Amino acid sequence: MTTTLTRPTDPPLTGAVLGRDLEPVEDLARLAARGDLPRLVEQIRRTGGCANPVNLWGSKTIRHLPTGLVLSEYSTADEPGGRLKVACGNRRATRCPTCSQTYAADTYHLIRAGLVGDQTKDVPATVRDCPRVFATLTAPSFGPVHNRPDTGCCRCGKQHPKGAPALGSPLDPERYDYAHAVLWNNWASELWRRFTIYLRRELAKASGLTRRDFDATVKLAFGKVAEYQRRGAVHFHAVIRLDGADAPGTTPPAWATVSLLDRAIRSAARAVTVPLDAAGPHPARVLRWGEQVDVRPVRAFGDGSEITEQAVASYVAKYATKAAEVTDSVDRRLHSLGALADYDLPDHTRRLIETCWELDDAYPERLLAHWSHMLGFRGHFSSKSPRYSTTLGALRQARVDYRAQQAHEELRERLLAAGLPDLDDLEHDGETLVLAHWVFAGQGHTPGESVLAATIAEQIQHNRTAAREERLSLLQDREEEQAWTAC
Ligand SMILES: [Zn+2]
Ligand SMILES: [Zn+2]
Repeated sequence: MTTTLTRPTDPPLTGAVLGRDLEPVEDLARLAARGDLPRLVEQIRRTGGCANPVNLWGSKTIRHLPTGLVLSEYSTADEPGGRLKVACGNRRATRCPTCSQTYAADTYHLIRAGLVGDQTKDVPATVRDCPRVFATLTAPSFGPVHNRPDTGCCRCGKQHPKGAPALGSPLDPERYDYAHAVLWNNWASELWRRFTIYLRRELAKASGLTRRDFDATVKLAFGKVAEYQRRGAVHFHAVIRLDGADAPGTTPPAWATVSLLDRAIRSAARAVTVPLDAAGPHPARVLRWGEQVDVRPVRAFGDGSEITEQAVASYVAKYATKAAEVTDSVDRRLHSLGALADYDLPDHTRRLIETCWELDDAYPERLLAHWSHMLGFRGHFSSKSPRYSTTLGALRQARVDYRAQQAHEELRERLLAAGLPDLDDLEHDGETLVLAHWVFAGQGHTPGESVLAATIAEQIQHNRTAAREERLSLLQDREEEQAWTAC
Protein backbone atom coordinates (compact mmCIF):
# COMPACT_ATOMS: atom_id res chain seq x y z
CA MET A 1 0.00 0.00 0.00
CA THR A 2 1.39 3.44 -0.84
CA THR A 3 0.78 6.68 0.93
CA THR A 4 0.36 9.76 -1.17
CA LEU A 5 2.09 12.83 0.19
CA THR A 6 1.00 16.33 -0.50
CA ARG A 7 3.73 18.92 -0.54
CA PRO A 8 3.29 22.05 1.57
CA THR A 9 1.69 24.92 -0.24
CA ASP A 10 3.57 27.59 1.73
CA PRO A 11 6.99 28.85 0.67
CA PRO A 12 9.70 26.31 1.56
CA LEU A 13 11.00 26.48 5.12
CA THR A 14 14.68 27.23 5.27
CA GLY A 15 15.51 28.16 8.85
CA ALA A 16 14.37 29.86 12.01
CA VAL A 17 13.15 32.88 10.05
CA LEU A 18 11.03 31.84 7.12
CA GLY A 19 9.86 33.89 4.21
CA ARG A 20 12.30 36.66 5.11
CA ASP A 21 11.07 38.81 2.26
CA LEU A 22 7.60 39.13 3.82
CA GLU A 23 6.72 41.74 6.44
CA PRO A 24 4.86 40.34 9.48
CA VAL A 25 1.78 42.44 8.81
CA GLU A 26 1.75 41.54 5.13
CA ASP A 27 2.17 37.86 6.06
CA LEU A 28 -0.59 38.01 8.69
CA ALA A 29 -2.92 39.40 6.03
CA ARG A 30 -1.95 36.52 3.74
CA LEU A 31 -2.64 33.97 6.51
CA ALA A 32 -5.98 35.58 7.36
CA ALA A 33 -7.05 35.61 3.71
CA ARG A 34 -6.29 31.89 3.43
CA GLY A 35 -9.26 31.15 5.69
CA ASP A 36 -7.65 28.60 8.02
CA LEU A 37 -6.51 30.95 10.77
CA PRO A 38 -8.46 29.25 13.60
CA ARG A 39 -6.80 25.92 12.82
CA LEU A 40 -3.37 27.57 12.57
CA VAL A 41 -3.91 29.21 15.96
CA GLU A 42 -4.93 25.83 17.42
CA GLN A 43 -1.81 24.19 15.99
CA ILE A 44 0.47 26.85 17.47
CA ARG A 45 -1.39 26.65 20.78
CA ARG A 46 -0.69 22.92 20.91
CA THR A 47 3.05 23.63 20.68
CA GLY A 48 2.58 26.00 23.62
CA GLY A 49 3.48 28.93 21.35
CA CYS A 50 6.91 27.47 20.47
CA ALA A 51 9.03 30.13 18.73
CA ASN A 52 10.92 27.72 16.50
CA PRO A 53 8.83 24.59 15.89
CA VAL A 54 9.70 21.61 13.75
CA ASN A 55 7.44 21.44 10.69
CA LEU A 56 6.30 18.08 9.39
CA TRP A 57 4.37 16.92 6.44
CA GLY A 58 2.90 13.51 6.04
CA SER A 59 -0.13 11.39 6.83
CA LYS A 60 -1.59 8.82 9.14
CA THR A 61 -4.31 6.37 8.19
CA ILE A 62 -6.14 3.89 10.43
CA ARG A 63 -7.86 1.05 8.60
CA HIS A 64 -10.24 -1.66 9.71
CA LEU A 65 -8.26 -4.75 8.65
CA PRO A 66 -11.07 -7.24 7.90
CA THR A 67 -13.05 -4.86 5.68
CA GLY A 68 -10.33 -2.45 4.54
CA LEU A 69 -12.57 0.38 5.70
CA VAL A 70 -10.71 3.61 6.45
CA LEU A 71 -11.60 4.56 10.03
CA SER A 72 -9.57 7.72 10.13
CA GLU A 73 -7.40 9.60 7.74
CA TYR A 74 -5.14 12.46 8.67
CA SER A 75 -2.99 14.33 6.21
CA THR A 76 -1.05 17.54 6.65
CA ALA A 77 -2.47 18.47 3.23
CA ASP A 78 -5.53 19.65 5.16
CA GLU A 79 -3.46 21.67 7.62
CA PRO A 80 -2.67 25.38 7.25
CA GLY A 81 0.24 25.72 4.84
CA GLY A 82 0.21 21.94 4.41
CA ARG A 83 2.28 21.44 7.56
CA LEU A 84 2.02 20.23 11.11
CA LYS A 85 4.00 22.12 13.75
CA VAL A 86 5.69 20.32 16.67
CA ALA A 87 7.36 22.12 19.63
CA CYS A 88 11.18 22.42 19.36
CA GLY A 89 11.86 21.51 23.01
CA ASN A 90 14.91 23.83 23.31
CA ARG A 91 15.71 24.71 26.92
CA ARG A 92 17.40 28.06 26.25
CA ALA A 93 15.15 31.07 26.75
CA THR A 94 16.99 33.06 24.09
CA ARG A 95 16.26 30.32 21.53
CA CYS A 96 12.68 29.49 22.49
CA PRO A 97 11.13 31.22 25.52
CA THR A 98 8.17 28.86 25.53
CA CYS A 99 9.96 25.54 25.41
CA SER A 100 12.53 26.76 27.96
CA GLN A 101 9.62 27.44 30.33
CA THR A 102 8.28 23.95 29.76
CA TYR A 103 11.76 22.63 30.57
CA ALA A 104 11.86 24.71 33.76
CA ALA A 105 8.39 23.53 34.76
CA ASP A 106 9.39 19.89 34.16
CA THR A 107 12.52 20.31 36.28
CA TYR A 108 10.39 21.87 39.02
CA HIS A 109 8.05 18.86 39.00
CA LEU A 110 10.95 16.45 38.96
CA ILE A 111 12.56 17.98 42.06
CA ARG A 112 9.24 18.51 43.79
CA ALA A 113 8.13 14.90 43.24
CA GLY A 114 11.25 13.75 45.13
CA LEU A 115 10.30 16.04 48.02
CA VAL A 116 6.58 15.56 48.47
CA GLY A 117 5.82 12.50 46.33
CA ASP A 118 3.77 12.25 43.21
CA GLN A 119 1.15 9.52 43.15
CA THR A 120 0.83 9.39 39.38
CA LYS A 121 4.62 9.02 39.02
CA ASP A 122 5.19 6.23 41.55
CA VAL A 123 6.91 8.37 44.18
CA PRO A 124 5.04 7.88 47.47
CA ALA A 125 4.20 10.79 49.76
CA THR A 126 6.24 9.03 52.49
CA VAL A 127 9.39 10.63 50.99
CA ARG A 128 8.36 13.48 53.29
CA ASP A 129 9.31 11.36 56.29
CA CYS A 130 12.80 10.54 54.99
CA PRO A 131 15.79 12.65 56.10
CA ARG A 132 16.29 15.28 53.41
CA VAL A 133 18.53 18.29 52.96
CA PHE A 134 19.00 21.04 50.42
CA ALA A 135 22.74 21.36 49.74
CA THR A 136 24.71 23.89 47.70
CA LEU A 137 28.22 23.08 46.49
CA THR A 138 30.31 25.77 44.83
CA ALA A 139 33.62 26.19 43.02
CA PRO A 140 36.75 27.37 44.88
CA SER A 141 38.23 30.82 44.36
CA PHE A 142 40.14 31.45 41.14
CA GLY A 143 41.09 34.95 42.27
CA PRO A 144 39.26 37.79 44.05
CA VAL A 145 36.23 39.25 42.21
CA HIS A 146 34.11 42.36 42.72
CA ASN A 147 31.26 41.50 45.07
CA ARG A 148 28.65 42.82 47.47
CA PRO A 149 29.66 41.49 50.90
CA ASP A 150 27.26 41.79 53.84
CA THR A 151 29.79 44.11 55.46
CA GLY A 152 29.21 46.68 52.69
CA CYS A 153 32.37 47.53 50.78
CA CYS A 154 33.92 45.48 47.97
CA ARG A 155 37.67 44.88 48.24
CA CYS A 156 38.13 47.49 45.51
CA GLY A 157 36.85 50.10 47.97
CA LYS A 158 33.52 50.74 46.23
CA GLN A 159 30.00 49.77 47.15
CA HIS A 160 28.56 48.08 44.04
CA PRO A 161 24.83 48.41 43.49
CA LYS A 162 22.79 45.26 42.85
CA GLY A 163 23.23 44.02 39.27
CA ALA A 164 26.30 46.20 38.64
CA PRO A 165 28.22 44.96 35.58
CA ALA A 166 31.49 44.79 37.57
CA LEU A 167 30.09 42.14 39.95
CA GLY A 168 31.76 38.76 39.47
CA SER A 169 34.60 40.14 37.37
CA PRO A 170 38.18 39.82 38.71
CA LEU A 171 39.81 42.61 40.70
CA ASP A 172 42.99 41.79 38.82
CA PRO A 173 42.27 40.00 35.52
CA GLU A 174 45.99 39.35 34.95
CA ARG A 175 46.23 37.27 38.11
CA TYR A 176 42.86 35.52 37.80
CA ASP A 177 43.34 31.78 37.17
CA TYR A 178 41.26 31.49 33.97
CA ALA A 179 42.69 28.06 33.10
CA HIS A 180 41.67 26.63 36.47
CA ALA A 181 38.23 28.26 36.17
CA VAL A 182 37.32 26.66 32.82
CA LEU A 183 38.93 23.30 33.68
CA TRP A 184 36.89 23.29 36.89
CA ASN A 185 33.64 23.92 34.96
CA ASN A 186 34.63 21.22 32.49
CA TRP A 187 35.15 18.61 35.22
CA ALA A 188 32.35 19.83 37.53
CA SER A 189 30.02 16.92 36.71
CA GLU A 190 32.83 14.43 37.40
CA LEU A 191 33.49 16.16 40.72
CA TRP A 192 29.81 15.73 41.53
CA ARG A 193 29.86 12.05 40.54
CA ARG A 194 32.83 11.39 42.82
CA PHE A 195 31.14 13.39 45.56
CA THR A 196 28.14 11.03 45.55
CA ILE A 197 30.51 8.04 45.91
CA TYR A 198 32.40 9.70 48.77
CA LEU A 199 29.11 10.62 50.40
CA ARG A 200 28.03 6.96 50.58
CA ARG A 201 31.48 6.13 51.99
CA GLU A 202 31.23 8.87 54.64
CA LEU A 203 27.71 7.82 55.62
CA ALA A 204 28.83 4.21 55.99
CA LYS A 205 31.82 5.27 58.05
CA ALA A 206 29.72 7.48 60.35
CA SER A 207 27.21 4.68 60.90
CA GLY A 208 29.92 2.11 61.64
CA LEU A 209 28.89 -0.14 58.74
CA THR A 210 30.85 -1.55 55.82
CA ARG A 211 30.01 -0.04 52.42
CA ARG A 212 28.24 -3.26 51.48
CA ASP A 213 26.11 -3.34 54.67
CA PHE A 214 25.34 0.34 54.31
CA ASP A 215 24.20 -0.08 50.70
CA ALA A 216 21.95 -2.94 51.77
CA THR A 217 20.29 -0.78 54.44
CA VAL A 218 20.15 2.81 53.19
CA LYS A 219 19.78 4.26 49.69
CA LEU A 220 20.95 7.69 48.69
CA ALA A 221 18.66 9.62 46.35
CA PHE A 222 19.32 13.07 44.93
CA GLY A 223 18.05 15.55 42.37
CA LYS A 224 20.28 18.44 41.39
CA VAL A 225 20.39 21.52 39.21
CA ALA A 226 23.44 23.43 37.97
CA GLU A 227 23.66 27.20 37.79
CA TYR A 228 26.28 29.80 36.90
CA GLN A 229 27.52 32.34 39.39
CA ARG A 230 28.28 35.83 38.19
CA ARG A 231 31.98 34.95 37.94
CA GLY A 232 31.08 32.26 35.37
CA ALA A 233 31.67 29.29 37.69
CA VAL A 234 29.14 26.49 37.79
CA HIS A 235 27.66 25.49 41.12
CA PHE A 236 25.15 22.84 42.14
CA HIS A 237 21.99 22.85 44.24
CA ALA A 238 20.77 19.45 45.27
CA VAL A 239 18.04 17.80 47.27
CA ILE A 240 19.68 14.80 48.96
CA ARG A 241 17.47 12.18 50.59
CA LEU A 242 18.07 9.01 52.57
CA ASP A 243 15.63 6.17 51.84
CA GLY A 244 15.23 2.72 53.28
CA ALA A 245 16.63 -0.07 51.13
CA ASP A 246 13.31 -1.43 49.89
CA ALA A 247 11.87 1.33 47.74
CA PRO A 248 11.82 5.11 47.35
CA GLY A 249 10.12 6.68 50.32
CA THR A 250 10.56 3.75 52.72
CA THR A 251 11.96 4.88 56.05
CA PRO A 252 15.68 4.26 56.67
CA PRO A 253 16.96 3.01 60.06
CA ALA A 254 16.67 5.50 62.94
CA TRP A 255 20.41 6.24 62.96
CA ALA A 256 20.15 7.68 59.42
CA THR A 257 19.33 11.21 60.55
CA VAL A 258 19.47 14.65 58.98
CA SER A 259 22.48 15.57 61.12
CA LEU A 260 24.33 12.43 60.02
CA LEU A 261 23.60 13.39 56.41
CA ASP A 262 24.71 16.97 57.05
CA ARG A 263 28.06 15.90 58.52
CA ALA A 264 28.67 13.32 55.79
CA ILE A 265 27.99 15.88 53.03
CA ARG A 266 30.48 18.32 54.54
CA SER A 267 33.25 15.78 54.97
CA ALA A 268 32.64 14.23 51.53
CA ALA A 269 32.78 17.70 49.94
CA ARG A 270 36.07 18.41 51.71
CA ALA A 271 37.62 15.07 50.77
CA VAL A 272 36.72 14.70 47.09
CA THR A 273 39.22 15.68 44.38
CA VAL A 274 39.83 15.28 40.67
CA PRO A 275 43.61 15.32 40.04
CA LEU A 276 44.70 16.46 36.57
CA ASP A 277 48.08 15.52 35.14
CA ALA A 278 50.30 18.16 33.58
CA ALA A 279 49.30 18.65 29.93
CA GLY A 280 51.76 20.33 27.58
CA PRO A 281 52.69 23.70 29.08
CA HIS A 282 49.89 23.39 31.65
CA PRO A 283 50.80 22.29 35.19
CA ALA A 284 49.22 19.41 37.09
CA ARG A 285 46.24 20.53 39.16
CA VAL A 286 43.86 19.25 41.77
CA LEU A 287 40.22 20.18 41.28
CA ARG A 288 38.05 20.35 44.38
CA TRP A 289 34.96 22.05 45.83
CA GLY A 290 35.12 25.51 47.34
CA GLU A 291 34.95 26.18 51.08
CA GLN A 292 31.32 27.28 50.87
CA VAL A 293 29.15 24.23 51.47
CA ASP A 294 25.62 25.06 52.52
CA VAL A 295 23.42 22.28 53.94
CA ARG A 296 19.89 22.92 55.16
CA PRO A 297 17.32 20.38 56.40
CA VAL A 298 14.10 20.33 54.38
CA ARG A 299 10.88 20.20 56.38
CA ALA A 300 7.30 20.04 55.24
CA PHE A 301 6.55 23.28 57.07
CA GLY A 302 9.14 25.63 58.42
CA ASP A 303 9.58 27.07 61.90
CA GLY A 304 12.30 29.43 60.75
CA SER A 305 15.39 27.24 61.18
CA GLU A 306 14.82 25.00 58.17
CA ILE A 307 13.91 25.41 54.58
CA THR A 308 10.41 24.36 53.51
CA GLU A 309 9.54 22.07 50.60
CA GLN A 310 7.83 24.96 48.91
CA ALA A 311 10.90 27.18 49.21
CA VAL A 312 13.13 24.46 47.75
CA ALA A 313 10.78 23.88 44.83
CA SER A 314 10.61 27.62 44.14
CA TYR A 315 14.40 27.97 44.29
CA VAL A 316 14.77 25.07 41.92
CA ALA A 317 12.21 26.48 39.51
CA LYS A 318 14.17 29.73 39.46
CA TYR A 319 17.50 27.93 38.99
CA ALA A 320 16.11 25.72 36.24
CA THR A 321 14.94 28.77 34.30
CA LYS A 322 18.29 30.47 34.64
CA ALA A 323 20.31 27.29 34.48
CA ALA A 324 20.87 27.00 30.76
CA GLU A 325 21.66 30.69 30.45
CA VAL A 326 25.28 31.54 31.00
CA THR A 327 25.68 35.04 32.37
CA ASP A 328 26.36 37.27 29.36
CA SER A 329 27.76 34.43 27.24
CA VAL A 330 26.81 33.47 23.71
CA ASP A 331 23.68 31.36 23.32
CA ARG A 332 24.98 28.87 20.80
CA ARG A 333 28.00 26.79 19.94
CA LEU A 334 30.98 28.67 18.48
CA HIS A 335 32.48 27.07 15.41
CA SER A 336 35.62 29.14 15.58
CA LEU A 337 37.20 31.60 17.96
CA GLY A 338 36.84 34.20 15.21
CA ALA A 339 33.04 33.92 15.50
CA LEU A 340 33.39 35.59 18.91
CA ALA A 341 33.97 38.90 17.11
CA ASP A 342 30.22 39.00 16.32
CA TYR A 343 29.34 39.25 20.01
CA ASP A 344 29.47 42.17 22.39
CA LEU A 345 30.63 40.45 25.58
CA PRO A 346 32.05 41.55 28.93
CA ASP A 347 35.86 41.13 29.04
CA HIS A 348 35.66 38.48 31.75
CA THR A 349 33.31 36.24 29.75
CA ARG A 350 35.41 36.74 26.62
CA ARG A 351 38.56 35.66 28.52
CA LEU A 352 36.82 32.53 29.81
CA ILE A 353 35.72 31.55 26.28
CA GLU A 354 39.17 32.29 24.82
CA THR A 355 40.78 30.19 27.55
CA CYS A 356 38.62 27.20 26.54
CA TRP A 357 40.00 27.50 23.00
CA GLU A 358 43.59 27.93 24.25
CA LEU A 359 43.38 24.76 26.36
CA ASP A 360 41.58 22.70 23.74
CA ASP A 361 44.71 21.03 22.29
CA ALA A 362 46.18 20.18 25.68
CA TYR A 363 43.03 18.30 26.82
CA PRO A 364 41.70 16.82 23.56
CA GLU A 365 39.12 14.49 25.16
CA ARG A 366 37.53 17.32 27.10
CA LEU A 367 36.13 19.17 24.05
CA LEU A 368 36.80 22.54 25.68
CA ALA A 369 36.37 24.54 22.46
CA HIS A 370 33.15 22.67 21.71
CA TRP A 371 31.80 23.69 25.13
CA SER A 372 33.34 27.19 25.16
CA HIS A 373 29.92 28.89 24.89
CA MET A 374 29.13 27.15 28.22
CA LEU A 375 32.46 28.41 29.66
CA GLY A 376 33.71 24.83 29.63
CA PHE A 377 30.76 23.16 31.40
CA ARG A 378 29.69 20.07 29.48
CA GLY A 379 26.40 19.66 30.56
CA HIS A 380 23.46 18.40 32.28
CA PHE A 381 21.63 21.21 34.00
CA SER A 382 19.43 18.91 35.94
CA SER A 383 20.07 15.33 36.84
CA LYS A 384 18.99 12.86 39.48
CA SER A 385 19.77 9.48 40.89
CA PRO A 386 17.48 6.75 39.48
CA ARG A 387 15.26 6.46 42.52
CA TYR A 388 14.88 10.18 43.32
CA SER A 389 11.74 10.82 41.29
CA THR A 390 10.29 10.76 37.81
CA THR A 391 12.38 11.66 34.74
CA LEU A 392 12.08 14.52 32.25
CA GLY A 393 11.49 11.89 29.56
CA ALA A 394 8.60 10.45 31.53
CA LEU A 395 7.03 13.90 31.88
CA ARG A 396 7.31 14.51 28.15
CA GLN A 397 5.88 11.08 27.44
CA ALA A 398 2.99 11.82 29.79
CA ARG A 399 2.11 14.87 27.68
CA VAL A 400 2.36 12.92 24.42
CA ASP A 401 0.24 10.11 25.90
CA TYR A 402 -2.37 12.60 27.03
CA ARG A 403 -2.68 14.07 23.53
CA ALA A 404 -2.72 10.65 21.88
CA GLN A 405 -5.45 9.63 24.33
CA GLN A 406 -7.47 12.75 23.47
CA ALA A 407 -7.18 12.04 19.74
CA HIS A 408 -8.14 8.42 20.35
CA GLU A 409 -11.25 9.40 22.31
CA GLU A 410 -12.31 11.87 19.62
CA LEU A 411 -12.02 9.21 16.92
CA ARG A 412 -13.80 6.61 19.05
CA GLU A 413 -16.76 8.92 19.61
CA ARG A 414 -16.86 9.91 15.96
CA LEU A 415 -17.03 6.24 14.89
CA LEU A 416 -19.69 5.39 17.48
CA ALA A 417 -21.77 8.35 16.36
CA ALA A 418 -21.56 7.04 12.79
CA GLY A 419 -22.87 3.65 13.96
CA LEU A 420 -19.46 1.94 13.56
CA PRO A 421 -17.90 -0.55 16.01
CA ASP A 422 -16.12 0.56 19.19
CA LEU A 423 -12.50 1.47 18.37
CA ASP A 424 -11.30 -0.05 21.67
CA ASP A 425 -12.79 -3.42 20.70
CA LEU A 426 -11.26 -3.28 17.24
CA GLU A 427 -7.83 -2.45 18.64
CA HIS A 428 -8.17 -5.11 21.29
CA ASP A 429 -8.96 -7.72 18.63
CA GLY A 430 -6.03 -6.57 16.47
CA GLU A 431 -8.38 -5.47 13.71
CA THR A 432 -6.84 -2.08 13.06
CA LEU A 433 -3.83 -1.16 10.92
CA VAL A 434 -2.03 2.14 11.34
CA LEU A 435 -0.03 3.56 8.43
CA ALA A 436 1.99 6.68 9.10
CA HIS A 437 4.58 8.54 7.09
CA TRP A 438 6.26 11.75 8.20
CA VAL A 439 8.85 13.98 6.53
CA PHE A 440 10.80 16.92 8.03
CA ALA A 441 9.62 20.10 6.33
CA GLY A 442 11.90 22.69 7.96
CA GLN A 443 12.00 24.54 11.26
CA GLY A 444 10.49 27.83 12.33
CA HIS A 445 7.63 30.15 11.48
CA THR A 446 6.77 32.53 8.70
CA PRO A 447 6.92 36.17 9.94
CA GLY A 448 3.14 36.28 10.47
CA GLU A 449 3.11 32.95 12.30
CA SER A 450 5.89 34.29 14.56
CA VAL A 451 3.63 37.12 15.67
CA LEU A 452 0.80 34.68 16.38
CA ALA A 453 3.12 32.34 18.32
CA ALA A 454 4.47 35.18 20.47
CA THR A 455 0.93 36.28 21.35
CA ILE A 456 -0.17 32.74 22.18
CA ALA A 457 2.98 32.12 24.26
CA GLU A 458 2.25 35.29 26.23
CA GLN A 459 -1.34 34.19 26.93
CA ILE A 460 -0.21 30.75 28.10
CA GLN A 461 2.47 32.27 30.33
CA HIS A 462 -0.07 34.64 31.83
CA ASN A 463 -2.42 31.76 32.68
CA ARG A 464 0.45 29.71 34.11
CA THR A 465 1.57 32.57 36.36
CA ALA A 466 -1.97 33.13 37.59
CA ALA A 467 -2.35 29.42 38.39
CA ARG A 468 1.00 29.33 40.19
CA GLU A 469 0.15 32.39 42.26
CA GLU A 470 -3.10 30.78 43.30
CA ARG A 471 -1.25 27.59 44.32
CA LEU A 472 1.31 29.62 46.27
CA SER A 473 -1.31 31.58 48.17
CA LEU A 474 -3.12 28.32 49.05
CA LEU A 475 0.18 26.95 50.37
CA GLN A 476 0.83 30.10 52.37
CA ASP A 477 -2.60 29.78 53.92
CA ARG A 478 -1.77 26.21 54.85
CA GLU A 479 1.57 27.19 56.36
CA GLU A 480 -0.04 29.96 58.38
CA GLU A 481 -2.69 27.53 59.58
CA GLN A 482 0.07 25.12 60.55
CA ALA A 483 1.87 27.90 62.44
CA TRP A 484 -1.33 28.63 64.39
CA THR A 485 -1.79 24.99 65.29
CA ALA A 486 1.81 24.86 66.43
CA CYS A 487 1.26 27.79 68.83
ZN1 LIG B 1 10.20 25.75 21.10
ZN1 LIG C 1 34.62 46.00 43.46
